[in-house]
Amino acid sequence: MEYTNLGKTGLQISRLSFGSWLTFGKQIDEVSVRKLMCSAYDHGVNFFDNAEIYARGMSETVMGKVLKKTQWSRDSYIVSSKVFFGAGGQLPTQKGLNRKHVVEACNQALERLQVDYLDLYFCHRPDKRTPIEETVWTMHHLIQQGKVLYWGTSEWSAQEIMEAHMVARQNHLIAPVVEQPEYNLFARSKVEVEFDQIYRTVGLGTTVWSPLASGVLSGKYNSELPTGTRFSIEGLEWLRDKNLSPDKLEISRKLANVASDLSITQAQLSIAWCLKNPNVSTVILGASKEAQLKENLASMNFTNRLTPKVMEEIELIMGNKPSFPNF
Ligand code: NDP
Repeated sequence: MEYTNLGKTGLQISRLSFGSWLTFGKQIDEVSVRKLMCSAYDHGVNFFDNAEIYARGMSETVMGKVLKKTQWSRDSYIVSSKVFFGAGGQLPTQKGLNRKHVVEACNQALERLQVDYLDLYFCHRPDKRTPIEETVWTMHHLIQQGKVLYWGTSEWSAQEIMEAHMVARQNHLIAPVVEQPEYNLFARSKVEVEFDQIYRTVGLGTTVWSPLASGVLSGKYNSELPTGTRFSIEGLEWLRDKNLSPDKLEISRKLANVASDLSITQAQLSIAWCLKNPNVSTVILGASKEAQLKENLASMNFTNRLTPKVMEEIELIMGNKPSFPNF
């Protein structure tokens, strides 16, 4: 495993990390979660990603039980939560980035995860109803109370991130250090263009999500629609429709040939491609089976097979390189 600074912070994060969305507390039981987390940890993964909304709090509860049982030293791993969507409660005070919900959600996440502090705490989406000042002050206070070490954002625009920095600078508060955007061969513009300036100016770190576009970029949908995947879960039709379009499948089939020429799997090609971007601090893997996780973790060994010539070949297949605005 390789480790890198999370943006401009001194925090050393593993370049591959492991997340719990749709799997922990939903698709897989606690025994499987433990096997997967232990496998990741044994391979050098030190960051485990979570959120209040995942399985409506159950994902944090299951991860907390596993953290307790494994008894890993607290200084050997990084754990996150995210606030915004709530943990299932529908009352107006049970969601958003207002001081009340952020403080209560943090306390609840600590309880469910059975830890004394969160290493990373993300604002899961921007909140148009709460002034950014209120959120920045709240995150600053949580850090001062020792409940959070670093805070960040997820799916915020560059402008919103910079607004948070401006508020922090004006009031001598602790600013966000990390953004969690989607990043994979199909979703590129935020990471490659929109944030380009702020990697340099504020030293933004990134923990990127869905490197396999929910499994499509593993190639397993190239010729059939297998059962028992996240796309057959009731209520996730929107996710299947977003990711399983005919044009994406056509591209995916072409990527399979590139992977085969390199003697790696298509999942490994897709994850190694994300790792090639130096502005990606860590790629958050998802897996519902141990074999998937092991295959994905091995991507770390194959980045050197993606030579400039191979990257160019991939670029030609994708045809979606985001462009910078013309002057
Ligand atoms: P991926 O796009 O990598 O999808 C993971 C899923 O793909 C697995 O659960 C599995 O699904 C399938 N899969 C994984 N590896 C293989 C393989 N080798 N062969 C075949 N199928 C495979 O990542 P996620 O979408 O899960 O995102 C990763 C993490 O990012 C999340 O857990 C979460 O922590 C974070 N995230 C953050 C978001 C945010 O808004 N901040 C949004 C979404 C995710 P199946 O069971 O179908 O086989």
